[in-house]
Amino acid sequence: MVVPPGAYHDGRLEQCLVCPGTELFIRKDFSQRAGVSIVVLGFVVSCVTWYFYLPYWTFGVLFATALIDVALYFAVPNCLNCYRCDAQYRGLGGLDNHEQFNLETHERYRQQEIRLREAAATAHRQNRQTAQ
Ligand SMILES: [Zn+2]
Repeated sequence: MVVPPGAYHDGRLEQCLVCPGTELFIRKDFSQRAGVSIVVLGFVVSCVTWYFYLPYWTFGVLFATALIDVALYFAVPNCLNCYRCDAQYRGLGGLDNHEQFNLETHERYRQQEIRLREAAATAHRQNRQTAQ
């Protein structure tokens, strides 16, 4: 893989190596599905214990779920993601200097991808009509 000139600046990745995107964000290198599953499991188990009038078990399950969440937060390292192509970078230095996920930036790239897909489909349809 060719590293574009200027992609690294002061030991920090400034540009995606897969696409020309320069907007990158850090997030926990942990499956979102697994994280949500832990929360949902804690919620469901605490509802069952609450239904059977077991308040200590209910709060114990909720606190255990929160403790697992905090332990994972401190134990799991960060990874760097590209908004544009969703490339992920692990084990890089200077990750903490990057920004956290920004929903507005993510939405801008998502909308751009939708418009490009629609424009390509429209151009494909027009090419087929002119060919007939
Ligand atoms: Zn990229």
